[in-house]
Amino acid sequence: MAATATRGLELAANKAAAAKPIRVAPPPALAVLALDQGSGHAATPVVRAGDRVCVGTLVAEARDPRATVLRAPVAGRVIALESRPTPPGDGPCLLIENDGSDEPDPVITPLDCARLAPEAIVAALRSAGVAGYGGGAFPTAAKLDEARAFPARHLLLNGAECEPWICCDDALMRARAGDVLDGARLLLRALDAARCTIAVLDDKPEARAALETALAGSPDVHISIVTVPARYPAGAERTLIEAVFGTAVPRGDRPPAAGILCHNVATAAAVAAVARGTPAVSRIVTVTGGGVASPANVEARLGTPIAELVALCGGYTGDPLRLIAGGSMTGRALATDAIPVTLGLNCVLVATRADLPDRGPERPCIRCGDCARVCPAGLLPQQLLAGLAAGDAAFVARHGLADCIECGCCDYVCPSAIPLTESFRVARAGARRAAGAQEFSDQLRNRYEAHLARLSAASETERQAFEAARAQARGRGP
Ligand code: SF4
Ligand code: SF4
Repeated sequence: MAATATRGLELAANKAAAAKPIRVAPPPALAVLALDQGSGHAATPVVRAGDRVCVGTLVAEARDPRATVLRAPVAGRVIALESRPTPPGDGPCLLIENDGSDEPDPVITPLDCARLAPEAIVAALRSAGVAGYGGGAFPTAAKLDEARAFPARHLLLNGAECEPWICCDDALMRARAGDVLDGARLLLRALDAARCTIAVLDDKPEARAALETALAGSPDVHISIVTVPARYPAGAERTLIEAVFGTAVPRGDRPPAAGILCHNVATAAAVAAVARGTPAVSRIVTVTGGGVASPANVEARLGTPIAELVALCGGYTGDPLRLIAGGSMTGRALATDAIPVTLGLNCVLVATRADLPDRGPERPCIRCGDCARVCPAGLLPQQLLAGLAAGDAAFVARHGLADCIECGCCDYVCPSAIPLTESFRVARAGARRAAGAQEFSDQLRNRYEAHLARLSAASETERQAFEAARAQARGRGP
């Protein structure tokens, strides 16, 4: 089955590293474990400086359901909790000095999957720290919880890795297709869902063949593989759902409301690893670009400095211009290669001038409409930009700023080199912060009202006790 093409761009791929074997980085001497692994919400440490930990020991819990439980990626001693640069920006990190023993925590054991109820599987994934390996790092258990609230459920595994440089999912599907399928089976059970579709781009025949080989002869008639045209941003969740199922998720709705839950293929492989007794303490990162000697996909423990991945790939070469976390379309510039690997870091792009051609200075909009023509979300980027410049929040909301997926297509085609996506990214982050502040103030108000209700109930109990005592006293009186 081949899905239909949508808007977007045809981009030249630079994914030669996908054909090479996955390299495994040695565990770092010092693991710098970011409390926010990329979801925008930090976990809360449960260890202190001086504590000894094994691989897999719980080191931070998720008091906010949007944060990810963290388990130690190395065995050794916690030496500090301090602010360090991380892919999303400076943030608190646990520093764990590796003692080289790689001793696993004995509490981590394989799951008895055949016996576990769906709720128990979700709880195990939460406890193991599994989160979206596609880049969002949103806790997998939270997504499953959300999806389980809706009746019809179809699991969509996203293998449509469409950014021009990123190929860690391609390498994973080629080398470990069986893990992806094992994870799919467990996610289906956790979801209590009937069907799973794995979507692969049509320029990844090796990945598709590996999945088909792994699926051949198995009784999984409810798991199928579809091919999606390799047109950026085919891997964006809503774009992929439309391409695979032929229907768009309505604006304002989330995919589970349409009965679909989308997970990355690497998340599925991480789920399979949890079933085997390995918590989420590592990931595969594409290390690529003209500025690295031998591009490769590297499996690294969380907390490994990017510099160590580049060194494993032969070091820097040529004239590196910029270090980017993610791909050339949606990635973010990094200030230093001391930044550690997180669950959300799928690619380190060491870009040269040739990789990122200079587009010249920004010029006025000429109203060519090219940005609207390519926008996969069907938005009018130039109108959105005008609304933002005018500070008209109602206008930008009406024109769908919330539906922008920050894909960068509009920037890519803009002949005036206007940084549209960055403007939308900043505006959307501001809106999220405002919504978060509103949510926080709602929580405070709810807590205060509950407190008043408790006081009122307590004073009513007190009053009743007082009245009863007085009545009793009267009864005993002269
Ligand atoms: S407006 Fe948003 S979704 Fe549309 S092309 Fe630009 S970045 Fe992508
Ligand atoms: S592509 Fe650039 S120049 Fe053309 S309408 Fe959009 S913002 Fe204006």
